[in-house]
Amino acid sequence: MRFPSIPTLLRTFYAFSNATTRSAPQALHPSIRPSLVKSMPTIPFLGSLFSSSTSKTMTYPLQKSDDEWQAQLSREQFRVLREKGTEAPFTGKYDKHAPDAGVYTCAGCSAPLYRANHKFKSGCGWPAFFDAIPGAVTRHTDSTFGMQRTEIVCSNCGGHLGHVFKGEGYKTPTDERHCVNSVSMNFSKDDPVVEGGAKQSKA
Ligand SMILES: [Zn+2]
Repeated sequence: MRFPSIPTLLRTFYAFSNATTRSAPQALHPSIRPSLVKSMPTIPFLGSLFSSSTSKTMTYPLQKSDDEWQAQLSREQFRVLREKGTEAPFTGKYDKHAPDAGVYTCAGCSAPLYRANHKFKSGCGWPAFFDAIPGAVTRHTDSTFGMQRTEIVCSNCGGHLGHVFKGEGYKTPTDERHCVNSVSMNFSKDDPVVEGGAKQSKA
């Protein structure tokens, strides 16, 4: 397995600790604030950073070498999608993006992941979705950083999207928050899944 580089870890560390401190003073709805604290636990000892993640042993329909991914993706996209990095909070281009319609696709392979109407305002600093297009996103247990989290990846190429948190009290149909890096996605105003005629079951 590949370990992220130290600068990558530091940036990730920064992203998490920063998220905790920066989200607190925000003018959030009182019912949302406690859940933010819950979802961003304090950073434990560095020794527990390198825990296993089951996703590394998975295979996906679209297979590419690191060289191929590097040629295709920007440095930041490669760091997040292929090395499971995290963009700094409140910096992503889709954090405050709230379109009426359209679809968010994987920045690695263009697979449709989320619909515009899955997105909600979480105030967490990253794009948040309460649900995904059926089958588009695969979940894994992620034990890095001494936390037990659920990682989400693109089901087609295995690209790292972010994490999903449940039971935080958001007033959404699922009470789940798919916390996704903007850099892992592209957005299209057209919804090819619907407009292409491919019937989606309303699961
Ligand atoms: Zn993908």
